[in-house]
Amino acid sequence: MSAVALSHVYPLGSRLNERGRLEVGGCDVVELAAEFGTPAYVYAENDMRARARSFVEAFRARTEHFEVIYASKAFPCTAAYRLFAEEGLSADVASGGELHLALAAGMDPKRLYMHGNNKSPAELDYAIESGLGHIVVDSFDEIERLRGRGQRVLLRVTPGIEPTTHEFIQTGQVDSKFGFQMGEVERAVQACADAGLELCGLHAHIGSQILDVDVFEKLGELLGGMGDWPLLNLGGGLGIAYTAEDRPPSIEEYVDALLRHALENVTVLCEPGRALVGNAGVTIYTVGTIKRIPGVRTYVSVDGGMSDNLRPMLYGARYEAQIADRFGGGELSTIAGMHCESGDVLVRDVELNGPRVGDVLVIPATGAYSHAMANNYNAVPRPPVIFCTDGDARVVVRRETHEDLTLRDS
Ligand code: PLP
Repeated sequence: MSAVALSHVYPLGSRLNERGRLEVGGCDVVELAAEFGTPAYVYAENDMRARARSFVEAFRARTEHFEVIYASKAFPCTAAYRLFAEEGLSADVASGGELHLALAAGMDPKRLYMHGNNKSPAELDYAIESGLGHIVVDSFDEIERLRGRGQRVLLRVTPGIEPTTHEFIQTGQVDSKFGFQMGEVERAVQACADAGLELCGLHAHIGSQILDVDVFEKLGELLGGMGDWPLLNLGGGLGIAYTAEDRPPSIEEYVDALLRHALENVTVLCEPGRALVGNAGVTIYTVGTIKRIPGVRTYVSVDGGMSDNLRPMLYGARYEAQIADRFGGGELSTIAGMHCESGDVLVRDVELNGPRVGDVLVIPATGAYSHAMANNYNAVPRPPVIFCTDGDARVVVRRETHEDLTLRDS
């Protein structure tokens, strides 16, 4: 057995097997690369189930009045909706497309919440005709669009709380396209009543990848003080570990903070996305080209990049990387993608163990917002999603083909 320890960014249950190769969900990722090709998103199903259970158990130990909602934008695929529904979670959707996926997965529409700062009339019709549980209304224009429909709604507010995270993923500050300003809430409540909507509570989401739970406590206190509502949805945003140095708060600490100011009869809802799926997934690539520029940098180029993981380019997100069957360091490397953009770099300055052409390279903690943000830049087909459990691997989203790329063209 290899002596190299796995960092906690890898899926729960991962290990280096007797051949020194990474195993996810009991599957050897070098074998997965041979069987399914690269790049590919590989998920440990049991990791997602364990995290879902941790949320539910953390709430159940503290209150009877709660609902855990899977923020499906983090990883919108039917297999994920199905898995989380099996674990007793609800889901939120942020578009007609996500609603379509959730319904196709067989989710109970009553357990769905719909978000969005600009839901189209067609999306609102789709939601209402599907029997969707709650629409999270975001503007006076939307209240008008919903007039006379008798829909159950929550009101999204902009609480003016700014967590420390990337400004592109802060959403609760006053200067935000989301929600109602605090000073508008009274008028919005009245507008909902006038429009014949059934207002059930308030919602706020202050941002993503938040590593300090105090802001969640502050949010709970603030919303709890805004009237007598049966439902308070405190959004998502719990951060995860992307690199070995990251020490995110535990699910228990997070739930504690959410509930600290909750009143007895109020149902507290939360919408984790990243914290349910982020560490469950890794992306595997094949190394195709290595350029060692003396005194400058070693570029290790892989067969994917910004089309399968936009986060490094979008937010400067930082990841780890390893050669799947030779964990360790020794050579400072930069993992470059294959796209025609100099900025298409997945990981800058990471230690690899003597990278070679043909190696399978793994980037962990890519379970959230990678498949979700995958795109066809350079007409690159999107990777498959593979779920692994107890040594069995199954394709839950197939690899896109070149034929798929021309399907919409006329
Ligand atoms: N809820 C809402 C309204 C969001 O916009 C988001 C993310 O953007 C989430 C929940 C999930 O956030 P996270 O994945 O950080 O938990």
